[in-house]
Amino acid sequence: MAPSKRPTHALSLVPRPSLPASISAVVPCFNEEEVLSELHRRLSATLESVGVPYEIVLVDDGSRDRTWEMLQDLRGRDPHLKIVKLARNFGHQLALTCGLDQAHGSAVIILDADLQDPPELLHDMLKLWQQGYDVVYGKRQQRAGESISKKVFAFLFYRIFARVTGFELPSDSGDFRLMDRRAVDLLQAMKERHRFIRGMVSWIGLNQTPLEYKRPERFAGTTKYPFKKSLFLAIDAITSFSYAPLRMASYLGAMISALAFLYILVVIVLKLRGINFPGYTSIMASMLLLGGVQLVVLGLIGEYVGRIFEQGQSRPLYLVDRVVGEPLQNGK
Ligand code: UDP
Ligand code: MG
Repeated sequence: MAPSKRPTHALSLVPRPSLPASISAVVPCFNEEEVLSELHRRLSATLESVGVPYEIVLVDDGSRDRTWEMLQDLRGRDPHLKIVKLARNFGHQLALTCGLDQAHGSAVIILDADLQDPPELLHDMLKLWQQGYDVVYGKRQQRAGESISKKVFAFLFYRIFARVTGFELPSDSGDFRLMDRRAVDLLQAMKERHRFIRGMVSWIGLNQTPLEYKRPERFAGTTKYPFKKSLFLAIDAITSFSYAPLRMASYLGAMISALAFLYILVVIVLKLRGINFPGYTSIMASMLLLGGVQLVVLGLIGEYVGRIFEQGQSRPLYLVDRVVGEPLQNGK
């Protein structure tokens, strides 16, 4: 697949005269016991104030704290909640995929549980939805309370991703977004296992627009995205959008072969003039260098082969243990 540039958005805006018939909010939760009550309070106050039927889909991604008990408790008090318990921890992107499968609103807002994505921005997102946008994504103007290393990692990732894949991702946006049902259905039709959802949404096209916001600190608790998970997401992102790294391996091979050819010429000329090199050091150096390069390239190919293998197994993307909730009125 040739990498495709992100299409220019906002080509065909058709204003929508009224609000969506219903709204779903989707929130993946992993060990979030400290934030759930406050999240529920602010999110339901916002959804109530919009004045259309709504549901809140909360997915417990195999938490090991009291998240599930708290979700059951909240659900007991609020029938707008639909709570889903995954069989184990499947990771943020798959928990989100499960939430989107369970959401039936004609517009869907995705947010993090920790209130770093302020629910109150729904009103501004809906205004843009009414102007005809299918996807309104949050763009972070400022990131409060994030470590320098995380900011540097994010900065580098967006630039390297654009460079390597040739596909421009809106920079500094997470998964916080409002999506029209049309966009959700297109996203969910993609059955790939290694999901990089913000990239996949961008890839869909349609009419998309950013909404700038200041990202506050996590309300409570600690990040559930340690460096290792962020790195794996970045690798998934690049490998699922391009095979350019494989092509780079071919370029590297061609370059090394050209250098080796030049080196052979030099050695032959010197030999004809009666100059001989003692060989051990240069042989060891080139052998170790080439061995290293070959293993790295093999590992790179392995990344792609492993993904083909997992996709070929076609296991379900996630497994659900339990779901509690009523169907949404005016859904889909
Ligand atoms: N999350 C999840 N499964 C995981 C890791 C994270 O469902 O394996 C959820 C988490 O509960 C939160 C969201 O993904 O709602 C984003 O995580 P977090 O806020 O810790 O990431 P950060 O904002 O630090 O990047
Ligand atoms: Mg967070």
